[in-house]
Amino acid sequence: MAIIDIEPQEEIRQRMMNDLKRALKKPMNKRHWVMVIDLGKCVGCHACTTACVAENHLPPGIVYRPVMEKEIGRYPNVRKTFLPRPCMQCDNPPCIKVCPASATWKRPDGIVEIDYDKCIGCRYCINACPYSARTFDKGFYYCDDTPFVPDYEKLPSFEYGKEWPRKNRDDSPVGNARKCTFCLHRVEKGILPACVTTCLGDATYFGDSNDPDSLVSALLGSPRLMRLKEEFGTHPSTFYLV
Ligand code: SF4
Ligand code: SF4
Repeated sequence: MAIIDIEPQEEIRQRMMNDLKRALKKPMNKRHWVMVIDLGKCVGCHACTTACVAENHLPPGIVYRPVMEKEIGRYPNVRKTFLPRPCMQCDNPPCIKVCPASATWKRPDGIVEIDYDKCIGCRYCINACPYSARTFDKGFYYCDDTPFVPDYEKLPSFEYGKEWPRKNRDDSPVGNARKCTFCLHRVEKGILPACVTTCLGDATYFGDSNDPDSLVSALLGSPRLMRLKEEFGTHPSTFYLV
């Protein structure tokens, strides 16, 4: 039984890996990264949230991919629904327009990037995001208020093609806006985002929507497809199957 359950998922992951490698052979402006999340398969385990925190060495107060929970129905017919919420990598992102320092922009492959060296920490983008996908790095450590902060709390994060060590409380990305990058540092090396490879429900798919043969292109044709808050005109690159 277990083998029957696992094998198709292994094939799906392999297919996404192949899609990723094919996309990386193209120029950046010829690929468009999208994420598709099947809400019917999400079991609310928060494995993706935890993997993301570990992968990106996120400090307390910063979560790039929370899983929102909602109770539906009335006792005794009650059930919970779950909604993972990464950055939507909007094609019309309101977070960019309000930045007075030109520290955030959309890359040709669809990822919305932040330059921590340019970010002045004004938090306008945090207020402008309709999805609450941006948070402010206040420089906290998990071991604050204990005798010492261990070195592993100061390990660098690997975002936007650079190492960002946390040696001092005023070094970037401390004092900057931060958000999910679809794990660009992994993707550009041909590795799927951490939330995709760790998802226990196999509910998260990733790939190039400009490739008609990719798995995500097939999923984008589903009648179950929806995007969050489309009325804002943000054109998210994160899709949901409902
Ligand atoms: S979800 Fe928010 S932070 Fe992400 S691109 Fe859209 S507006 Fe910007
Ligand atoms: S893509 Fe990477 S950074 Fe974004 S939510 Fe998933 S694990 Fe976190």
